[in-house]
Amino acid sequence: MAGNAALSVGVLALQGAFREHMRMLEVLGVQAREVRLPADLEGLHGLILPGGESTTISRLMTDYALWDPVRQFAVAGGGVWGTCAGAIMLARTIEGVSPNLGAQPGLGLLDITVRRNAFGRQVDSFAVPLDVRGLDGPFPAVFIRAPLIERAGPEVEVLATQAGGAVLVRRGRVMASSFHPEVTTDPRLHSLFLKGLSEL
Ligand code: GLN
Repeated sequence: MAGNAALSVGVLALQGAFREHMRMLEVLGVQAREVRLPADLEGLHGLILPGGESTTISRLMTDYALWDPVRQFAVAGGGVWGTCAGAIMLARTIEGVSPNLGAQPGLGLLDITVRRNAFGRQVDSFAVPLDVRGLDGPFPAVFIRAPLIERAGPEVEVLATQAGGAVLVRRGRVMASSFHPEVTTDPRLHSLFLKGLSEL
């Protein structure tokens, strides 16, 4: 894990499960930093957008003037991984938005269409052993009021599927998962993200 010590990775820490991601990064020996302000992005190799409530995170992104800086961070080659609400934030198209809220803003960094809360209320949280391309055994995937990636553009690589849609996708250094790897003790997806940061 020596290589990880050279990596600085931020976790957007406005709302949601950011502490769990911070812990996982620390376990992996990465320099982890909570990100709340544009200046916090400086010098980072990667940024994790955690799960939580995407409309709340969006509102706070506006309050903290983070939309453009995060977009620029990705365009400049920084890696970004969105988990659950974070995956919604990354999508080009967001479905399943409450009509009285109007259009939900997004970063549009991944050519995917996500449907919010796609798994229905009665089963809105569940765990499954998920086959993930590139991993040596199933990953314990925890879905919490999760979105489904209903469409992935031709340049987006689908790494795992569930319920007829994609739940883990990647394009270059930008990755999105419907589920919450940070609430498990399995570091393999965090390692996959980190590997992408030093490889590409
Ligand atoms: N349902 C939430 C949303 O739409 C996402 C849930 C989560 O991140 N666990 O924002």
